[in-house]
Amino acid sequence: LKNIAVLTSGGDAPGMNACIRAVIRTGIYHGKNMFGVMQGYQGLIDNNIIPMDARSVSNILHMGGTILKTARCLAFKEEAGMELAFKNLQEKEIDGLVVIGGDGTFTGAKRFGEKYNINVIGVPGTIDNDLSGSDFTLGYDTAINTVIEAIDKIRDTADSHDRLFFIEVMGRDSGCIALRTAVASGAEAVLLPERETSLKELITKLKAGASTKKSSSIVIVSEGNKYGGAYDIAKSVKRKFTHYDTKVTILGHLQRGGSPSGFDRILGSRLGYAAVNALIAGESMQMVGLYGNAIKLTSLEDALNTHNYKLESDLLEMTHVLSI
Ligand code: ADP
Repeated sequence: LKNIAVLTSGGDAPGMNACIRAVIRTGIYHGKNMFGVMQGYQGLIDNNIIPMDARSVSNILHMGGTILKTARCLAFKEEAGMELAFKNLQEKEIDGLVVIGGDGTFTGAKRFGEKYNINVIGVPGTIDNDLSGSDFTLGYDTAINTVIEAIDKIRDTADSHDRLFFIEVMGRDSGCIALRTAVASGAEAVLLPERETSLKELITKLKAGASTKKSSSIVIVSEGNKYGGAYDIAKSVKRKFTHYDTKVTILGHLQRGGSPSGFDRILGSRLGYAAVNALIAGESMQMVGLYGNAIKLTSLEDALNTHNYKLESDLLEMTHVLSI
């Protein structure tokens, strides 16, 4: 293994830059030639692959987003696109690839690594925390902190006006952000893709709060829950429960941005360091993850296929108990 490239793909996540820095510097420390691929798989196809030295990643540890940019690249799903990507890597004699991204990125990496002679290691970089084999994915902690800060502000106005707020947070198929932020912000209720909460139950809960003089109520709505978006739910609830003035906030893309938390800077550094060490040790088709505060390798296949979502049972119970 002589030359290693790193790319970020899919949705960006805070901490990706910390990880890129760790990948580049760990590789250089071990005498490898390091490359950065711009715009994810698109850059592989376009041959937008640039040599990186230790100074090229100076002063990025604290920055959100990704200096390598990211993209959603449809051409990489086609055989012709993959072929071209491999040719460009071959030309530069790049034999190791670190991909930082979510499940789509890993699906592409798995196909690519199976078909071509290149060693691939994945780093779980997504705010959704929806990959197996890592207790936390990169960017998840920062996203949680960002959401909590936003909810705290909404709580101020909700409380002053006796309002009921429905706040929609990200998580197409994972309620991780919703559950944690519900506990941390003292939300009255949370709607998750993984748990059935009927609108009737929700209204009963809100009524109970109103009858015991709660001056505001906050319901966290995870994108992927079965009753639809926060606007739809607010409308349905409003028809049967009129005690509060009802408002909706969709937090949207602000959840992806911002300077990474201390946790994500450390996680990004650990995972980047581990990814290069795994490549040097001859590993391929694995994801590096944090499991019980130790680095663990999981096959890309298992990272994608074992959906043991990480909704802690005590947190789930607590959302009922602590919001009375
Ligand atoms: P994320 O990695 O955050 O889940 P996406 O689902 O957009 O984001 O995936 C990122 C990129 O991975 C896609 O734009 C595409 O280039 C690549 N990709 C996704 N699925 C496949 C696939 N089945 N085959 C090849 N490449 C894929």
